[in-house]
Amino acid sequence: MIMLNIVLFGPPGAGKGTQAEKLLKEYQLVHLSTGDILRGELKSETKLGLEAKKFMEKGELVPDSVVIGMIEGKIDNNANAKGFIFDGFPRTTAQAEALDEMLAKKGTPITIMLAMEVEKDELVKRLLLRGKDSGRADDQDESIIENRIKVYDTETSPVKDFYAAQGKYKGIHGMGSIDEIFDRLCEAIEK
Ligand code: AMP
Repeated sequence: MIMLNIVLFGPPGAGKGTQAEKLLKEYQLVHLSTGDILRGELKSETKLGLEAKKFMEKGELVPDSVVIGMIEGKIDNNANAKGFIFDGFPRTTAQAEALDEMLAKKGTPITIMLAMEVEKDELVKRLLLRGKDSGRADDQDESIIENRIKVYDTETSPVKDFYAAQGKYKGIHGMGSIDEIFDRLCEAIEK
């Protein structure tokens, strides 16, 4: 079976979660958000959650080994999926390499990386707005937001080159209405 495996990429506040929800309905995909999974672990106060907490509250990345192990389990739990949307993962080149290995074992590679591009001022604005009603502590403090954007620029952004080298990178203009951005994403998938 040919699967549609999407890496939905972009800085914090780019709209990955919002667009992932729309894409999974459109293409019947399984949504794997490492941020959501980690917040779930934190809420249930699991060992993994407690370990991740100290990184998340500072806006630092949780160690690769933790995140990679977590994703592997979720892929195995969804053996009959038509495809996956990876949201907030991979966030380092090491994670991207590990994901390629996991998918190679299943014989189903990444189809495309959709990299949403949004200006920094807009990111900060969106995150502070989200922080008001999401209850996410890391969205309520401007210095943590700044750190997450910095971590994105230094550690995460190079993941684009990893997929570009495989001819899978596609930049998507991430400003405008939710539906306009969704249309751009669908167009890139269907091309
Ligand atoms: P997100 O919901 O994607 O913004 O993630 C929230 C926080 O969870 C991040 O600031 C990181 O601390 C952690 N996190 C989520 N995904 C990853 C990942 N793939 N690698 C490392 N840390 C992650």
